[in-house]
Amino acid sequence: MNAVFAASLAGAGFCGASLFGLLGGGITQRARASLLAFAAGIILALAFADLLPESVEAAGPKAIACFATAFALMALLEGLHSSHHRHDEADTTRSIGSEGATVLLPFVIGFALHNLAEGFVVAAGAGASAVAVGGIGIGVMVHKIPEGGSLGAVLAGSGTSRAKVAVIAFVLGLVVPVAAGLTLFFSPPGESAVGMMSGAAGGVLCYLGGSHLLPEAREGGGREAGVVFAVSMLGGVVLLLTLLSG
Ligand SMILES: [Zn+2]
Repeated sequence: MNAVFAASLAGAGFCGASLFGLLGGGITQRARASLLAFAAGIILALAFADLLPESVEAAGPKAIACFATAFALMALLEGLHSSHHRHDEADTTRSIGSEGATVLLPFVIGFALHNLAEGFVVAAGAGASAVAVGGIGIGVMVHKIPEGGSLGAVLAGSGTSRAKVAVIAFVLGLVVPVAAGLTLFFSPPGESAVGMMSGAAGGVLCYLGGSHLLPEAREGGGREAGVVFAVSMLGGVVLLLTLLSG
C-alpha cells in the first residue's frame, strides 16, 4: 500500500504540472511558438539526461536498442500514415500548433509508457521502510514536475481544449499509482523490462521533440524560439544531472 501512496504523490506532481496546459487559451502565435520551443528543450533534455541513462542502467545495451527502435518506428508509422492519407491533406498537415492537432496521441503514449515504468520503479523500492518509500515518492514527484510541465507546454502550445487538457493530465497522472497498484496483485516486471520501457519512451519523446516541436517552434517563432529552445534544453540537462538526479 505504501507503494501506491508514494506513486500517487509522483502522479499528482505530474498531473498538477501538466495542468499548466490550461493556460493555453487565447495566446499569441509568438507565445505559442515559445511554449513549443520550451517544451522541445525540456523533452529532449529528459530523453538524453534522464530516460536514456536510467534505462541503460537498468537494461544495458538493450535499452539503447529500444530507444532507437521506438524512434525509427515513430518515423516509419508517420511516413505510412501520411502516404495513406495523401488525399486528405488538411488532416495530415495539421500541426501541433493548430487546433485539434492529431499528433498529440504519440505524446500521450510516450508519457504513459514512462509513467507506467516509473510506477513499477516506485513499487520496486517499496520493500523498504515507510520513511524510505515516502522519500522515493517525493524524489520521483520532484522529477515528475518538469515532465508534467513539458507536456503542459505542448498542450498549451497546441491550443488543446481545457477539458481535454484536464483529462489527459488526470489519466497520465493516474497511470503511476495504477502501475504501482498492479504490482500488489501481479508479480512486478523485472528491472530489465522496465529499463526497456523507459528506453522506448525516450525514443518516442526524442523523436517528437526533435522532429515536431522544434521545427514548428522555429517556423512560428524564428530566432526567439531558437534561443528559448537552447536555454530550456541546456538548463534541463544541467538540472537533471545535478539537482534532480536520483
Ligand atoms: Zn521520469
